[in-house]
This record gives sequence, structure tokens and C-alpha cells, in this order.
Amino acid sequence: MKLPLLNLPASLNYIGIFLTLDCNLNCSYCINDPKQEGQRSTVFPIQATNDRAMSPDLWARALSRIPYSPELPITLQGGEPMLYWKSRGLGLLLEQVPHYFDLLTNFALPPAQFARNLRGQQAKLQRKAPYPSIRVSYHAEEMDRAWKGQGFQELVDRCAALDQFGFCVSPEKSKSDVGIYMVAHPENHVTAEMEGIYKDRIPFETKEFLGVHDNRLYGHYLYPFSTDLVSRGIALRTLECECRTTELLIDPLGFVWGCHFFLYQSWVEGGPRAQFSVLAENEFRFADKAGDLFEASTFTPIGHILDPEFTMEALTVFRPCNQYGRCIGCDTKIKNDRFQSYYDRGVPHTSVQMRNIRMPAHLLRQVDRTEQIAPFLHPDNQPT
Ligand code: SF4
Ligand code: SF4
Repeated sequence: MKLPLLNLPASLNYIGIFLTLDCNLNCSYCINDPKQEGQRSTVFPIQATNDRAMSPDLWARALSRIPYSPELPITLQGGEPMLYWKSRGLGLLLEQVPHYFDLLTNFALPPAQFARNLRGQQAKLQRKAPYPSIRVSYHAEEMDRAWKGQGFQELVDRCAALDQFGFCVSPEKSKSDVGIYMVAHPENHVTAEMEGIYKDRIPFETKEFLGVHDNRLYGHYLYPFSTDLVSRGIALRTLECECRTTELLIDPLGFVWGCHFFLYQSWVEGGPRAQFSVLAENEFRFADKAGDLFEASTFTPIGHILDPEFTMEALTVFRPCNQYGRCIGCDTKIKNDRFQSYYDRGVPHTSVQMRNIRMPAHLLRQVDRTEQIAPFLHPDNQPT
């Protein structure tokens, strides 16, 4: 059965496909583990089962619902997407769909194997954009461990080698299909040696570290305490609010989520595998089955991408949430939308929108500029 096309609103800012949550690395600050306690490989152990990701065929069916638009790329991420479907899934998926994609990766495979696994679909990762569509993350500690102290050199060599496999590689980011990004974690530093390695070869940038390190919060957030309320011991319990997302976030089994925290936490708890099995036997009728399937779950998705009744309306609904304070930084940090709203017009964008936050007076007194948060607070919790 052909699924109805999704009517993507102009306000949709991002489509993120989490092909797999498996990863070859174990970065201490990995946000897949909402606690960021360096337990990633324990929380998400790599297992040789195929019940933790949808097949490339099912993904192709799902993506056939998404109208092609060069302005709104589909971002493949994880975990480590090169590992998807025993490392052969990317090409098997890309060859079945017309879309162009961005790829967030740590370059887990040697370039020749990566290129071979793409099955000639390189063009699908060569979107016309002012920045590289293949964005490679550099993780110093983990890559030095994996590549015997030569982490950065190996990563730059892998990126540079893509020019032998049909990609454009340039030190100018607007011309290069590939670029390296380093999380500006307080323990990550750009050294003169690194500059000597990447200069004149590959675009290299740092990106903001989001989260708590040594009891200090890093990043700028629209909603106070949304990411650090519990982890910094500011309060013992999370708060209530209503929340909705501006992004289409789809997990490895095709479930659509209202925020990154719900998606990740559901997988910390093993992922909705049993629910997927039931849905697969029932034409993925999530709208009919979700009440029963997720009755006992704290973390409930907002839809399934293969449900014929799923529409983008699901993203417009504000839903009650009692987890405010454990939000993932990428959901509540202040940033630009894809139209540069913050830089050009001073309008901060966040991946989620919140209202009716139940922030008690003793917390509110710790907020620097309460007038900025007032519109998001519940009427009973307005500053006096
Ligand atoms: S490479 Fe990315 S997904 Fe993997 S552990 Fe590091 S931060 Fe997490
Ligand atoms: S309040 Fe935080 S945890 Fe709750 S839905 Fe929004 S982003 Fe997610």
C-alpha cells in the first residue's frame, strides 16, 4: 500500500533519521545517554540482532512519504549511521529513494569500504549547500584510543581520501562535501599540531558543547534549568509543562518522537521493539494501537512514520510533560532556524516550544531575567 505524502509545513526546521543507535565509540559527553556519564557503550550495547532498526526497504517506504525538497535536507544520524544494517544499509537505502541527505558520522569505516557500501549513491550525499553535507565529528579521546594515538591524523586522512571515491574535498566549506567538527568540550582543545594536519585539506570547525561538566552548564538555553535542573542538583524533581517539537525526529524503528530526550530515554530502556513487532503485524496502525501498546510507558512516541494515518499535525499538539529539567540541550538551546531567524531578526529558535511551565517561586528567583521567561510560565507561576 502506498502511503499518503506528508504535508511538510514551512516551519519544519529539521528532519532527523536515527538509523541506528549503535556506535563504535563511547564519548563521555554523548547526548544519546541523557545522563552524559560516559556509559554510552553500556547503555547502548552493539548487538548482532536485527530487531533494533528498520530494514532499508521499510525506510525507503517511509521516506517515500516525504516530499523531496533541496532546501530541507534529511539528516541521517545516530549512533553511527555508517554501521546501520551491518554497515551495508546506507547504500541499500539511498538507492531506493530520490532524496538528498546530510550525514552526521564519526567515519567509523575506512573510506574505500564506506564508498563501496554506498553502491554508487554518492550523489545523494552531495547536496548543494553552503556547508558540507557529510559532517564528521572529531572525538579526541575516543579516536586516539581507537586509532592508537593518531586519532586526528587518521580522521583527516579518511576525509581527504573521499576525493578518490567521487566526492568533492576542499578546505573551503562551501565547496567541500565533507568537513570535520569538534565538540568544544572543555577537555577538547584545538592544537597547533591539529591545525597543521587539517589546514589546506579539510574544513574544520568547533561546535558548542551542550551539557554539564564539572557541575557547570555549557550552552545558552531559552528555558532556564531545562537541561540541568536535576543533573546539577538544583532541584530533586523535574517540573511540569506543555511541549511540542518543530522537528521531525524518527528513531531506528520508525517511531516519531516529540523531543530528543524522549527518543533517547526510550532507547536507554531498550527501545520500543515489542511495540514495533505488534505494529508490523497491524499495518503500523499506531493511531489505533498506541493507547494499549504504550499504556505502561513513561516515554511514548507521537506517531509512527509508516502509519497511514500519521500526519504532520502530530507535531502541532502541545502535550503535557513532567520531565522539564531533563531536556536534551539540542532541544532547548537558543539557535537559528533554517532562515537564520536569530542572526537576522533576533528571534531565538529552539527545537521545542514550551508553555505553562510550572516553575516554583524559589526557582524563578534564580532566573536572571524573569520577563523573558514569563510568556512560557503557567498563569499560576508568573513572577510577582
Ligand atoms: S561518536 Fe557520537 S554517537 Fe558515538 S559515542 Fe561519540 S558522541 Fe556518541
Ligand atoms: S519538556 Fe523537555 S523532556 Fe519534556 S517534552 Fe519538552 S523537551 Fe522533552
